[in-house]
Amino acid sequence: MIPQDFIEEVLDRTDIVEIIEASVVLKKMGKNYQGLCPFHKEKTPSFTVSQDKGFYHCFGCNAHGGALKFLQEHLRMDFIPALEMLAERVGMKLPQQDEVLPRQENRERRVIYEILEHASKFYKEQLRTNSTRERAVEYLKGRGLSGHIARDFDLGYSVAKWDSLQTFMASSNFERVFLNNSGMLVQRDGSDHSYDRFRDRIMFPIKDLRGKVIAFGGRLIGDGKPKYLNSPETPVFQKGRELYGLYEARRRTPHLEKIIVVEGYMDVLALAQNGIPYAVATLGTATTDNHIERLFRFVSRIVFCFDGDEAGRKAAWKALDAVLPYLQDGRTVAFLFLPDEEDPDSLVRKEGKDGFEGRLSKCTSFTDFFYSHLESSLDMSTPEGKASLSKMAMPLVDQIPKGVFKQLMVNSLSSRVGLTSETLISASASYQKRKSRQSGPIPPSSIKNAVTLAKNDIPKSELGGQVDRAVSMLLKQPELADLFEPEEYSLLKADERLSLLSDLLDFIMHEDILSPEIIFKYFNDRPDFMRLQQLAKKEQLLDISQFADEFKGIVRLQLHRLEEESKKTDIENLLQRAIGTLSSEEKDLIRRYHNGHSLKNV
Ligand SMILES: [Zn+2]
Repeated sequence: MIPQDFIEEVLDRTDIVEIIEASVVLKKMGKNYQGLCPFHKEKTPSFTVSQDKGFYHCFGCNAHGGALKFLQEHLRMDFIPALEMLAERVGMKLPQQDEVLPRQENRERRVIYEILEHASKFYKEQLRTNSTRERAVEYLKGRGLSGHIARDFDLGYSVAKWDSLQTFMASSNFERVFLNNSGMLVQRDGSDHSYDRFRDRIMFPIKDLRGKVIAFGGRLIGDGKPKYLNSPETPVFQKGRELYGLYEARRRTPHLEKIIVVEGYMDVLALAQNGIPYAVATLGTATTDNHIERLFRFVSRIVFCFDGDEAGRKAAWKALDAVLPYLQDGRTVAFLFLPDEEDPDSLVRKEGKDGFEGRLSKCTSFTDFFYSHLESSLDMSTPEGKASLSKMAMPLVDQIPKGVFKQLMVNSLSSRVGLTSETLISASASYQKRKSRQSGPIPPSSIKNAVTLAKNDIPKSELGGQVDRAVSMLLKQPELADLFEPEEYSLLKADERLSLLSDLLDFIMHEDILSPEIIFKYFNDRPDFMRLQQLAKKEQLLDISQFADEFKGIVRLQLHRLEEESKKTDIENLLQRAIGTLSSEEKDLIRRYHNGHSLKNV
């Protein structure tokens, strides 16, 4: 039912490495990526992924295909959900039934890619051969950039004429309408005439993750305004999604560990020129969720580079705010604030690679910036100041995914305001502006136990199966959530493995209007989002009338298990504390009675 055109376009926009990397560890080897094949058991990698061509191939078992096939074969997704997921990731919507996707639109994108590729070649050629090329070359040299970097980033030159690109394009017979829609020409109001958008500029091609040119940035060589100019948004370019230099950074650094986010093209180039090839620039927008999500797919550390002034700190705080929901354990974020009157470009030219990397290694940690920013407007010597800090900080900390880092942030707050973490967490639960029904404070004991519960007796598959069934039923019949009181559910939060279920319950209990779309939208940032989608499509063996009993059974079982676990931990803790006061005979006795259970420090 779905037009081939649409499928091709989705695959075209999809970076297969991103998809496969979610389940296979890949290493860059030359042009391709390599890893252990997920389709057969092996110890040495024979599974390769070609980013440019968009397919994977295993030399061991001959598994072969594109992103869609990977989702179907490896994650056992059905064709439509898999396609839908890929489409959503690249901002496309599955065509509705009887809505045939206008073929025209598709062809347009394809032609625009071609036009941009042509333009890029043309601008590069101008930088090499145009009679006025010296202007551009001098400019680049003046900024300390070598021919090598210019080549690596495919820099070009648009001459100071109104029709240079246009004349060149005329020889290629592109349709007028596509040329106009490519963003490379500007149409004069009320006439057929158009002129080149970019004139007398150094041209920076902006590429997608596969290396296709999707837009341009241009830096004016002479005097005038604007100094920097970007392509407008077009069918192939959305500003909030793209990062200048990401393609190049990934190509130049095989094991990318961290990425620096800077403001301008020139910063990216100057850093690369000076031996720091892992910087990217946002394209004149603030850092978006989309950027962060994308960056964390490739690296576990992001360093944001900002001016040290008021405006820079404001922008840094915005980035911090956007990054909170993505701070799973293992990911780190830091901030590099620059000295007055400097940007990364000027600084790295002055101080070189070592100087700049020295600054990077001493930059401001997430936690430091977080608290120093909040405290800057408060008098922390007063109870009022402390109360305001906890009131401002907790809702933010709450956005961090569960884990050790989150706990450390709570601890840090606790030492600043002089309250226990438990008090902070229960206070925060009551701040929560969630609508009608409050789920009440989370019992402190269940939080404490979260760590101890990680190792637990129920076989993983069985627990997983139960939880999956419960989630899948909830998605089909959200009213099931009403079968228990919110307080009862809060115990589920103690077990990390139930987080999808308990978060889903939380969401359902607090939302008036529910549909799979709304649920998906809310959850689409989560690492287990794919699982959620699969569960939504899962066939139920039971009739919907039997859901309630089955759901009740599963939740009761889990609650019972968690209560038992919690009791056990409490007893262990009490024993542990009591043990200090016992004689050695008494300790022996305990050991014997406790038979099999390990008591530390006895
Ligand atoms: Zn294989």
